Amino acid sequence: MKTDVLVVGAGFSGSVVSRQLADSGKTVVIIDKRSHIAGNAYDTNDKHGILVHTYGPHIFHTNSQEVFSYLSAFTKWRPYEHRVLASIDGQLLPIPINIDTVNRLYGLNLDEEGLKSYFESVRDPRDPIKTSEDAIVNIVGWDLYKKFYKGYTNKQWGLDPSELFASVAARVPVRTNHDDRYFTDTHQAMPLDGYTEMFSRMLDHPGITIRLGVEYQKIRQEYSPKHLVYTGPIDEYFDFCFGKLPYRSLFFEHEHLPTVQKFQQVGTVNYPNEHEYTRITEFKHLTGQEHSGTSIVREYPKAEGDPYYPIPRPENDELFKRYQKLAEKEKGVTFVGRLAQYRYYNMDQVVGAALSASKSILDEI
Ligand SMILES: Cc1cc2nc3c(=O)[nH]c(=O)nc-3n(C[C@H](O)[C@H](O)[C@H](O)COP(=O)(O)OP(=O)(O)OC[C@H]3O[C@@H](n4cnc5c(N)ncnc54)[C@H](O)[C@@H]3O)c2cc1C
Repeated sequence: MKTDVLVVGAGFSGSVVSRQLADSGKTVVIIDKRSHIAGNAYDTNDKHGILVHTYGPHIFHTNSQEVFSYLSAFTKWRPYEHRVLASIDGQLLPIPINIDTVNRLYGLNLDEEGLKSYFESVRDPRDPIKTSEDAIVNIVGWDLYKKFYKGYTNKQWGLDPSELFASVAARVPVRTNHDDRYFTDTHQAMPLDGYTEMFSRMLDHPGITIRLGVEYQKIRQEYSPKHLVYTGPIDEYFDFCFGKLPYRSLFFEHEHLPTVQKFQQVGTVNYPNEHEYTRITEFKHLTGQEHSGTSIVREYPKAEGDPYYPIPRPENDELFKRYQKLAEKEKGVTFVGRLAQYRYYNMDQVVGAALSASKSILDEI
């Protein structure tokens, strides 16, 4: 079949590239092995009519005006600032750690300067900072590290913080003020009608054909496109020739509570030291939906299953680089996205990467 471009994967990366190329007059076929568009950002009404995120909570935040303006062509927004509490020693405390976290945990009454001096007195200075353990104990010392980070990281990654890059811990900052927002980006908002609706508008273009429930490996012979855009796992594309890249997977346990209006105070509650799950998210906080019941999701990290998170540690990076060298030699193929670039990208970063990949592809074809 004829098409200028074949795009594998209808998540953020594949959908943004498809729309950009179609807007420039190219014909695009976009496929996904799942039965729906929107990749891991997919949301849908559960059978009780509550909009839920099938693959775990997705909160949009960005400092990029370019990315925010781009997506705004396909959606209106509902302003939303995410807040997270962590269940520690019988209390629910703000995370990222801030002044109130420390005061409530230890029964103190520190002000901002007092908190800085407190951190100075408990920190374990590390130089160089290589691992997540280094990054955290260097700022807050061992007790806060053990209570907030160690258990959560062990569960989330199946690894100790000392085995992960410092960048993993750096995703959750430490604050000395009262700010209890999870993110501080300039733009923090949820697509007003949901992610799937936003993707549906993005892909609604006469130049774009969507095929769902289709594995690339099974249909690759049907097309000889001028260009291929691949957003699936890079190791799978190369038939795992250097071995499997490790990914962390998750089991999502969705539950509807018909007689509960509000299950928890904030969008997400983390459980670093109790339970097998890492966190519970209540969707109505994220979406602002009104309903007599509520729907929640518990996340259980696991080793096997759908690849959700590339695991950021040195040996995996080395293995990825071997695949990346092969990818660079692959003529007429662009690898973009969280799985193809084996990078712990947020949605806005994926959109940015897809916009720049689109420019390069248009220069080529
Ligand atoms: C639990 C969880 C929570 C997250 N929360 C946030 C958040 O709050 N904020 C944020 O900014 N980011 C969040 N993210 C990250 C966000 O999901 C990603 O940045 C984004 O979805 C990546 O888009 P993508 O297109 O690269 O990949 P994906 O969304 O994974 O899309 C890739 C698509 O390719 C398809 N595919 C793969 N291989 C094949 C094949 N061989 N044939 C056909 N189709 C194939 C897959 O089915 C998939 O639909 C979260 C991620 C997870 C896992």
